[in-house]
Amino acid sequence: MTQKGAILVLSGPSGAGKSTIINASSSEIGEYYFSISTTTRAPRVGEVNGVDYFFVSKDDFEEDIKAGNFLEYAQVHGNYYGTSLKPVREALGEGKLVIFDIDVQGHRLVRAKMNDITTSAFITPPTLNELEIRLRARCTDDESVIVNRIENAKDEIKAVGEYDFTIINDTVEKAAKQFVIVAKAARLKQSTEDELKFVEQWLSEK
Ligand code: ADP
Ligand code: 5GP
Repeated sequence: MTQKGAILVLSGPSGAGKSTIINASSSEIGEYYFSISTTTRAPRVGEVNGVDYFFVSKDDFEEDIKAGNFLEYAQVHGNYYGTSLKPVREALGEGKLVIFDIDVQGHRLVRAKMNDITTSAFITPPTLNELEIRLRARCTDDESVIVNRIENAKDEIKAVGEYDFTIINDTVEKAAKQFVIVAKAARLKQSTEDELKFVEQWLSEK
């Protein structure tokens, strides 16, 4: 079967280590396209527009919603976050693995639209306490933001059963190894359309 593009959704509480794990594995998972989300939240120190996120105003985000530019979007921690459709379509058309770092609402929306080519993993630190320690150690958010993220995490963890895999980010090394396996499996996922074509061809070539 020809290999077409596939989607790998990563979710998990803010501070779970999603960016750390992707960065630690990037040389081992083959060519991929990381979907850069658009957000109305303010950039953290060190974040670069167009690299970490596209940082936009609420008005601009709402214009994009009206124009139908998002594959999915959601409000998380009081800000908008969304995935632009066009670059994702292009990357899938080029046969790439497209990696999303999106929340549990976004995962549900992607499943509703592109379930057949989607694999998902929920990433979490071993305990809520460890999440809090890591959020504080990251030194990127002030106290009220950290409290809000911890509260949100208590809800997000309840969605863990909706994902194909759970990666417990105990040590980065272990979690990255598991992530590489999940990314390789995600690449093998075929669209229903391609599977049907393959069966048709398989039966016709007797
Ligand atoms: P996310 O992208 O999920 O919001 P980050 O990758 O920014 O999370 O990780 C949050 C913080 O936790 C960062 O400061 C990161 O260096 C740290 N971190 C990530 N994984 C681990 C780990 N296994 N052990 C200790 N600290 C970690
Ligand atoms: P952060 O502000 O820590 O970068 O991200 C906060 C949360 O928003 C994380 O759970 C992250 O996965 C989620 N997120 C980031 N981009 C998107 C997106 O495009 N869509 C959705 N639904 N969630 C996103």
